[in-house]
Amino acid sequence: MDNIRFDGRVAIVTGAGTGLGRSHALGLAARGARVVVNDLGVSQDGTGATSEASEAVVAEIRAMGGWAMAHGCDVSDEAGVNDMVAQAMDLWGRIDICVNNAGILMDKTFAKMEMSAFRKVVDVHLIGSANVAHACWPIMRAQQYGRVVFTSSASGLYGNFGQSNYGAAKAAMMGLMNVLHLEGARDNIRVNTLAPTAATRMTENLLPPEAAALLAPETITPGLLYLVSEDAPSHVILGAGAGSYTQTRIYETPGITLLDEANTPETVAAQFAQITDPENQTEMADAFSQTKKYALNAAQARGLKLDW
Ligand code: NAD
Repeated sequence: MDNIRFDGRVAIVTGAGTGLGRSHALGLAARGARVVVNDLGVSQDGTGATSEASEAVVAEIRAMGGWAMAHGCDVSDEAGVNDMVAQAMDLWGRIDICVNNAGILMDKTFAKMEMSAFRKVVDVHLIGSANVAHACWPIMRAQQYGRVVFTSSASGLYGNFGQSNYGAAKAAMMGLMNVLHLEGARDNIRVNTLAPTAATRMTENLLPPEAAALLAPETITPGLLYLVSEDAPSHVILGAGAGSYTQTRIYETPGITLLDEANTPETVAAQFAQITDPENQTEMADAFSQTKKYALNAAQARGLKLDW
């Protein structure tokens, strides 16, 4: 018996006509969720548009006895997203799960990239994800229940040659998660980030065929399903691919404190090994945890008492 179920839950999955989104939509529906299958039906670089793929996924879900509706909005179009959310509310009356997955690539080295291509990719990934999460947010707050996932990428977390636009947009998923995790906590909204690596049309010509055979989208969806489940964690960056699951974390080193005339670029250079020494590094709970740490360091170094 599968005890992670989504009966009575309503999920929006963007970019669900193919690849990872399709797999997530099918996985949610197979465990009882009612699924909004969003897809603009574009080619990999964002051109063209057709509703065929999303309608095919809806038909697949219905054929297995599940509930689904298609919506073909462009996630970067706020009015279209609002219409999608309104239609889902009219049909099913709630939205519990928001899986931001739609995406495109417009790869070029930074030297050759037009800013229009930079903006377009940021628009789809970052603004698109924010649009959908923003439209779902008041509904989730009112319900006192919400599960939101953003889809990042190793390109954003670690870098990838030729993907400045995509890498920047994908790293932004983490920033959005960090804040929405804090803001959503009091309303039982949990926010996580998936960093998948899969054989889809997006990676078609990049993977050796033997590796591609191991990296099916279906190997990732179980991790996504956990991230949007009742007992989901929050604020996790889950790496997933070929059955591997990992967590990416950001740590800050203890560092050093330089006061007054010692606070020079030369001292920073001389003590750089100590500044970057990972021993005893910690995660910061939020931005002010860092501010507090620095102020306390400085107070201690000066022999002052600081009650914070
Ligand atoms: P894919 O190209 O197979 O699917 C993306 C889907 O998004 C397509 O169906 C497309 O029509 C849809 N889409 C694109 N722009 C849209 C828009 N503006 N509005 C609505 N739908 C839109 O790609 P995939 O590999 O399944 O990727 C899914 C997500 O995972 C993307 O965000 C991608 O960046 C991310 N990702 C994929 C990999 C990988 O290895 N495949 C790695 C890291 C991250």
